[in-house]
Amino acid sequence: MDKAPVLDDAFLVVKHGKFAAFGRQTPEALAGLHDRFTIGEVFDAQNGVVLPSWCDAHTHTVFAGSREQEFVDRMKGLSYQQIAERGGGILNSADRLRQTSEHDLYVAALERVHDMIRMGTGAIEIKSGYGLDEASELKMLRVIRRLRETLPIPVRSTFLGAHAVPREFKGDRSAYLALLTGNLFPKIASEGLADFCDIFCEQGYFSAEESREYLAAAVRHGMRPKVHAEQLSRSGGIQAGISVGAISVDHLEYASDEDIRSLAASETIPVLLPGAQLFLGLQAPPARRMIAAGNAVALSTDFNPGSSPSGNMNLAVSLASILYKMTPREAIVAATLNAAAAMGVQDTHGSIGIGKAANFIVTKPLDSVEAYPYYFGQPLIRQCFLNGRTLESLGL
Ligand SMILES: [Zn+2]
Repeated sequence: MDKAPVLDDAFLVVKHGKFAAFGRQTPEALAGLHDRFTIGEVFDAQNGVVLPSWCDAHTHTVFAGSREQEFVDRMKGLSYQQIAERGGGILNSADRLRQTSEHDLYVAALERVHDMIRMGTGAIEIKSGYGLDEASELKMLRVIRRLRETLPIPVRSTFLGAHAVPREFKGDRSAYLALLTGNLFPKIASEGLADFCDIFCEQGYFSAEESREYLAAAVRHGMRPKVHAEQLSRSGGIQAGISVGAISVDHLEYASDEDIRSLAASETIPVLLPGAQLFLGLQAPPARRMIAAGNAVALSTDFNPGSSPSGNMNLAVSLASILYKMTPREAIVAATLNAAAAMGVQDTHGSIGIGKAANFIVTKPLDSVEAYPYYFGQPLIRQCFLNGRTLESLGL
């Protein structure tokens, strides 16, 4: 990851929305370009850095209302789990979501994703999981489908009905999981509403054994597994995810050395979410040990109203360097190509490569790539391109 190549004095050719050529601006190379292409519009990057657009492989961008009162409660000393026990947390979001129309959810989520696109995001995964009943989970998945149909970036959809146990099923998790697998899985499969199926494997939520069985059933309905794992304690979610061929396991603050070795020997991508870890004041996940073991670590925002109310991938990249000691190049690879792999779009997005979608960021003038994460929180983006077009030309 730290060996990601950087070209100085580079050119980039975009044709029909895809990268068609790139390289050093030598006189021979430029002459060759004029033989191969009819050069149309030219954009001078003016000593800016050109990066592939961010890929955000873990978000909960469809939600109703915010939870800043819980934020204030935490400032006064309550923990995330204490707030959840008082009726806050995910169940609070579920109450609000059930009362909000599909149209209103769509409009609010669209505005959020537009903001993320302006901050450099060029591919996104979005989860359900605030409905927690049949009608409301399907409502969320249909909102995600509508976003997929209207946004200029790829949208991957994840069914996260097993995000928490709703009040109606308090004390009877297995009945709730049976509803999800028996009623919802067939409907989701027949309408093609989800690419992935996710579960919150955690004390007070769902166990590793429940996660394994549930995700194995999801595979039978055509959904690839993901797991919210080892966030607040060592839950066994990583091993459960690997055993069912999960495309990713996410959070991982409490991953053990054995977990890290198992991940490195598997095809499962570890996704780290520094926004949530920072916001909740959790311990840092063992990013350096994961990379040393050969893992393709990915980064994402976890944008959600409870534990990470930020969809800013630039900040996630800077935080990964500051908090996890990932080098800037490692963090950039984690937030682009590796995150693309964590949502299955690595063949078309996540890097500057011939034939891939021309989604890229041009920064203001910078002396090096390393300067980008270094100036954390600074507005360094000069222009974003999606499929070779500026955001202005897309009405964004
Ligand atoms: Zn999440």
